[in-house]
Amino acid sequence: MAFGNMGNTSGTGVLFTRNPSTGEKKLYGEFLVNAQGEDVVAGIRTPEDLDTMKNCMPEAYKELVENCEILESHYKDMMDIEFTVQENRLWMLQCRTGKRTGKAAVKIAVDMVNEGLVDKRSAIKMVEPQHLDQLFTLSLRIRPLTKTKLATGLPASPGAAVGQVVFCADDAETWHAQGKKAILVRTETSPEDVGGMHAAAGILTARGGMTSHAAVVARGWGKCCVSGCSDIRVNDAEKVVVIGNTLIREENGSPSMETLVNFRRLKVMANADTPEDALTARNNGAQGIGLCRTEHMFFASDDRIKSVRKMIMAVTLEQRKAALDLLLPYQRSDFEGIFRAMDGLPVTIRLLDPPLHEFLPEEVNPMLGFRGCRLGISYPELTEMQARAIFQAAVLVSNQGVKVFPEIMVPLVGTPQELGHQVSLIRIVAKTVFAEMGTTLSYKVGTMIEIPRAALVADEIAKEADFFSFGTNDLTQMTFGYSRDDVAKFLPIYLSNGILQNDPLRLVLDQRGVGQLIKMATEKGRAAKPSLKVGICGETVGSLLLLHSSQRPD
Ligand code: PEP
Ligand code: MG
Repeated sequence: MAFGNMGNTSGTGVLFTRNPSTGEKKLYGEFLVNAQGEDVVAGIRTPEDLDTMKNCMPEAYKELVENCEILESHYKDMMDIEFTVQENRLWMLQCRTGKRTGKAAVKIAVDMVNEGLVDKRSAIKMVEPQHLDQLFTLSLRIRPLTKTKLATGLPASPGAAVGQVVFCADDAETWHAQGKKAILVRTETSPEDVGGMHAAAGILTARGGMTSHAAVVARGWGKCCVSGCSDIRVNDAEKVVVIGNTLIREENGSPSMETLVNFRRLKVMANADTPEDALTARNNGAQGIGLCRTEHMFFASDDRIKSVRKMIMAVTLEQRKAALDLLLPYQRSDFEGIFRAMDGLPVTIRLLDPPLHEFLPEEVNPMLGFRGCRLGISYPELTEMQARAIFQAAVLVSNQGVKVFPEIMVPLVGTPQELGHQVSLIRIVAKTVFAEMGTTLSYKVGTMIEIPRAALVADEIAKEADFFSFGTNDLTQMTFGYSRDDVAKFLPIYLSNGILQNDPLRLVLDQRGVGQLIKMATEKGRAAKPSLKVGICGETVGSLLLLHSSQRPD
């Protein structure tokens, strides 16, 4: 046993070898003279910083600094260390890997590569999926005005936010226009709310799941959203909700992110639905867009949503075509912007996918209902309009010198016939547009593999596809038989009882089950078509990417 309480030449301390909040390469810790064991952490006396130790016991301090360097280069990581000094002699008590914020994790990983301490593969392994979640989300210092927990909801999109509570999208937009922050509080969000959701600093809803498409919209923007907060009562008419306030201060993410992205071996394509998102993705090192969800473009304004509704409610083909004609210019101009932002890189655009209630709030469809390619097969004119907008945009920007690599992706395919149907339509539209515009360009047509049947018959599907992208959100939903819309009702119970180790829809891909389908489908697909390009998307892919990049050889 070493004694730190043997007078002014003794003491005890804890430290991190680097700053665990920022990642700065500087010892970060606390020290107490003439103190023992837990005194520092117990908070009985207010500890001093390490300079105190440097001043009053310089020899022990020098040795401590040297030991920190030895430990870092041995463990090749930032360490959390406890030590005691007994009459000027240093005793190292304990050493373990230090916990850190997302910002620190990325900086430490990048710095350690630059210092020659770790290789790029190990650096990627040092960053955990949760770190990335944190990094792309506002981080806030919160001083609660009350220690009472007011309500509990689902962490649909991580982060924190502060602002005036507003009860309708218009108010959120008005506040935003005045440069003020608003929290949009709704019983549930509807398509009309999208403008307000975008304008709001954060979103709180009494109903809704974690991986429903509405939650995905908020996550796509990196906007804090708590959904399914059934403890709150929202009264829109009276503009009342029972909820408290907090004080906050904002901080931003880390500039090292782009460097870290460049350490990986797999290509990382962004999930982006607007030209602005595409630019942000490119600036963060994305090598193209792997998933552009076209439905999100329909949410972008009232006019667009109204036209989508007209299209859905149309009784005759003429009515539907008229509504689609209104949507075409919006889609085309969005695609133009996205192609420009991704000049020289591939852009995978997915045809309309979600269940139609996302556009018609009064209607509710099952997650496994009338959606995906079932829409484009039932209404071929819908696929034709989207393909036309993509090809017209591609030719227009290509004529201006932009290098475009469009890839059209058909969602929710379960049989080769479904894909074949859509591929034929798309190829006819391409031919027509190229003839009208007097030029051609190359493009790919592929599909998402997100229905277990598609994975089982991947060899047959590959014959119709230039590429596969595994949609792990739907594939997980359907493999487990959990609905993305209500899994949150029992998931916490499953997690706390150890029935599941992780949320397979949000955090860690189920390699044992879903992974087996992915492996099999890739092998079958490539056996049938060796040139098949294979990608993967969905909420859990960030964690998979880190795992893959750090474990697999070139
Ligand atoms: C998926 O299913 O993994 C996917 C990316 O598509 P979405 O979440 O839009 O259904
Ligand atoms: Mg899907």
